[in-house]
Amino acid sequence: MQSGALVRDEVVDRLVEERLNQPDGASGFVLDGYPRTLVQAEHFRRWLDERGIREVVIYLAVDYNVVIARLTGRRQCPRCGTLYNILSQPPREDSLCDLDGEPLVIRNDDREEVIRERLDAYERQTRPVLDFLRAAGRNVLEVDASSDPPDVVFQKIRRAMGTDDCSKNRR
Ligand SMILES: [Zn+2]
Repeated sequence: MQSGALVRDEVVDRLVEERLNQPDGASGFVLDGYPRTLVQAEHFRRWLDERGIREVVIYLAVDYNVVIARLTGRRQCPRCGTLYNILSQPPREDSLCDLDGEPLVIRNDDREEVIRERLDAYERQTRPVLDFLRAAGRNVLEVDASSDPPDVVFQKIRRAMGTDDCSKNRR
């Protein structure tokens, strides 16, 4: 995890299955970031097919330059943990926490080389998952998530899934 590398497939598969086998998984579930490799995707497709479950895959497409700019802009207060972003949510005083005046730091996860390593791992390991799922005829919905705030992305997902009819704050 420190180097941006990923946990082994079998370990992840077992954790996911154990969790989904609990009673509250029977009526449906949302998985975020799984399956992440081709081996996981093939394994999980069998798991779904054995149970007659037809999944919807939501692919949140992002521009890497936008992601890198956003993540490298993050700063955290080492004392109270408050997160800032020099682009979108800067502290009142440069590089100091609003709450306690502590100098802000860049978390290791937010360093550009760690982010780039994670994006490389994504291209190597996860991009093929999308191709596999599409080729296998699974229901893959692509939603542009580069720059919109979470609630707008959420509405886009609902629209793509055709479940936005009952939305109260439709955009
Ligand atoms: Zn603080």
